[in-house]
Amino acid sequence: MLQTRIIPPAANAHPYPLLIKSLLLSGSRYEKNREIVYRDTLRYNYATFNERVARLANVLTEAGVKAGDTVAVMDWDSHRYLECMFAVPMLGAVLHTINIRLSPEQILYTMNHAEDRFVLVNSDFAALYQGIVGQLTTVIGTMLLTDNAAAVELPGSVGEYESLLAAAEPSYAFADFDENSVATTFYTTGTTGNPKGVYFTHRQLVLHTLSMATTLGSLDSIRLMGSDDVYMPITPMFHVHAWGAPYVATMLGVKQVYPGRYEPEMLCKLIKQEQVTFSHCVPTILQMVLAAPGAQGHDFKGMKVIIGGSALNRALYEAAKACGIQLTAAYGMSETCPLISCGYLNEELLAVGEEQSTTYRIKAGVPVPLVEAAIMDSEGNRLPADGETQGELVLRAPWLTQGYFREPEKGQELWTHGWLHTGDVATLDEMGVIDIRDRLKDVIKTGGEWISSLELEDLISRQPAVKEVAVVGVVDSQWGERPFALIVAKEGQSLNAGLLKEHLKPFVERGVINKWAIPSQIALVTEIPKTSVGKLDKKRIRVDLAQWQEAGSEFLSSL
Ligand code: AMP
Repeated sequence: MLQTRIIPPAANAHPYPLLIKSLLLSGSRYEKNREIVYRDTLRYNYATFNERVARLANVLTEAGVKAGDTVAVMDWDSHRYLECMFAVPMLGAVLHTINIRLSPEQILYTMNHAEDRFVLVNSDFAALYQGIVGQLTTVIGTMLLTDNAAAVELPGSVGEYESLLAAAEPSYAFADFDENSVATTFYTTGTTGNPKGVYFTHRQLVLHTLSMATTLGSLDSIRLMGSDDVYMPITPMFHVHAWGAPYVATMLGVKQVYPGRYEPEMLCKLIKQEQVTFSHCVPTILQMVLAAPGAQGHDFKGMKVIIGGSALNRALYEAAKACGIQLTAAYGMSETCPLISCGYLNEELLAVGEEQSTTYRIKAGVPVPLVEAAIMDSEGNRLPADGETQGELVLRAPWLTQGYFREPEKGQELWTHGWLHTGDVATLDEMGVIDIRDRLKDVIKTGGEWISSLELEDLISRQPAVKEVAVVGVVDSQWGERPFALIVAKEGQSLNAGLLKEHLKPFVERGVINKWAIPSQIALVTEIPKTSVGKLDKKRIRVDLAQWQEAGSEFLSSL
């Protein structure tokens, strides 16, 4: 350890822990009349928002919630969720954002594993909750969240959210405590085993918020969200706190719009009516919004959207641009809070013209302030950042989960060699641009070559008849694995393996891919399976394909 100079603070100096309550201070100071909007049913300003956070803290305290307890939420994206994102951690309790898209068995597992003490349940999930309540081991009480006046039975309920808030005191003296206290937790599902719990402290969330605000607002070539923007999440709030953007928006006093359950028509209506200018989502959700009747013919000019969670392909980038939406790719994962990198364009890249700069806008981008990224081989050796060498992306940053809750061995594995291992294969270039090539387990190994399923998906998506595509490797007795493409064709258009080969041939001739990358078999389907957060579900696709191949299914088209 270096012998640096540490000067003891004055006995009465205030140490100022980095706590989530600090993020609330500035927003309402800047713009106390700015609105927080919930669907087309409710709107209030930041002054009221602050009061409501205090009221909720009083209600939770009255219900027996104490510092150190875990408070779970099962809700769609709402103003209530935003209030919980502040009130629960500000009490010193831990907010568990339940992934309501998991199966009831998985939800039950995560709730018992996280040791949830108190649960806020939207009436839409009351039946689900009723079904698992008998097996919950730590819950002492619940609260009902509802948009309807109709009474709903919820076991152990202390009452309905709005009525309880209305009756509570509008102020609360939030105490200071250690900034390393856990503020939030949620579960990530891997390819095997039970979901794993990641967790983030107050200090981590505050630092993440500051770095994200800098990234979104201060980098001239991307400028995604400043204080005059209007923000609406289209990434569920249970998925890595809607990527942390609600904390940034609140700190800056940005107008915020919460859409409830994601219904494409409602999303379009809110974007138009509330003049939303900034959002973020996975590619499939944006595709859903753009395909909605309400989006047809609408000019989304001025709207900026971060695409993350999956690779952004050129076809989607162009389609969004044609509607007036500027897309920027970003990279992160549940374990990383999530922001790691974002598609920064420097002067040189901006000068080279649209075509080339688009190539950079759709890559995973440059690490944001305070993030260190490197690539490693399987022995833990650093590999060169030359834009070509591929290795596992490893990370260091102040806001990465420090392990998996109550699973020390898995946590140690995540942190092998003192770096967080992402499980993603990437290249890094001199500027630090991360290009995600694939998930380690999705790379297709054919005849000694590695083929990136993401790159193939990008190239295939440029075939005019292709609406959606997923590529996976399937076992092949001769080559080890061969790429297999699952495709949804655009309405009224047809496609077969031969036509796809014709489309890919020029990329082989230009050396973009090798000839083994051309799928010898494709499946034309009406829908591609998705995960709980709308990503391509490659685990399920592999199972489906194996079954179809065995049955010689009619979906298949071979060369
Ligand atoms: P999750 O933990 O469910 O949020 O998933 C994180 C994973 O999503 C990462 O490990 C990547 O495999 C993938 N991912 C996220 N952002 C990108 C991106 N910009 N490009 C490609 N893959 C991405």
